[in-house]
Amino acid sequence: MSELILVVEDEPSLQETLVYNLEKLGYTVEAVSDGRLAIEAARAHIPDLIVLDIMLPSLDGFEVCKILRKEMSVPILMLTARDDEIDRVVGLEVGADDYLTKPFSMRELIARVKAQLRRTQIIREELGKIKTADTEEPHKILTFKNLAVDLTRREVRLDGQALALKPQEYDLLVFFAEHKGQMLSREFILERLWGWEYVGDSRTVDVHVRWLRQRIEKDAANPERIVTVRGGGYRFEG
Ligand code: CA
Repeated sequence: MSELILVVEDEPSLQETLVYNLEKLGYTVEAVSDGRLAIEAARAHIPDLIVLDIMLPSLDGFEVCKILRKEMSVPILMLTARDDEIDRVVGLEVGADDYLTKPFSMRELIARVKAQLRRTQIIREELGKIKTADTEEPHKILTFKNLAVDLTRREVRLDGQALALKPQEYDLLVFFAEHKGQMLSREFILERLWGWEYVGDSRTVDVHVRWLRQRIEKDAANPERIVTVRGGGYRFEG
């Protein structure tokens, strides 16, 4: 039986795109465009995952998340329009499992959806095997000398100190970390991380790299971790 995904998004074109792409992957998708309807829909058929926009008519995504969290343990992936740390923090506080900042690419969304569903699957299997098992997933942590990226908690530490990275900075760092030692062109980074909305403006990448360097380099003017490849792009040295 295919997994049921509830899409809560009031912008018609985005809702349509989400439904189209998720159905194409074989998921059963139910879509609503306001907060109250989202709660009704989730209660009627408990979904396997909810994709939840924050700015919604009647009840916003935070409220929906808070209410549903008390009733069911379905993973919730929040969509935020603002590049705002507050949204992320509030989202995680009300019980969202993950979030994506608009605009995002479908590839990115699909990756997050699959990751959440896979996690639920693993938890279910473990629960089936040993009822008393701790369902907490072991943390996936990538370490590069004094820099640690905790993929489970989306937390970055430098010399043991937590860094408050913006979502885009975090995503960029993870992307680099996953492609350590490879030359990544600006276009490739742009397309894979931020999707079609930014295509053509590769300066976006330079701006984010500059910000990220200020966070993780000893000397941002002479970067050792994220090096510039002349005429090409960037390479993460670890
Ligand atoms: Ca909205």
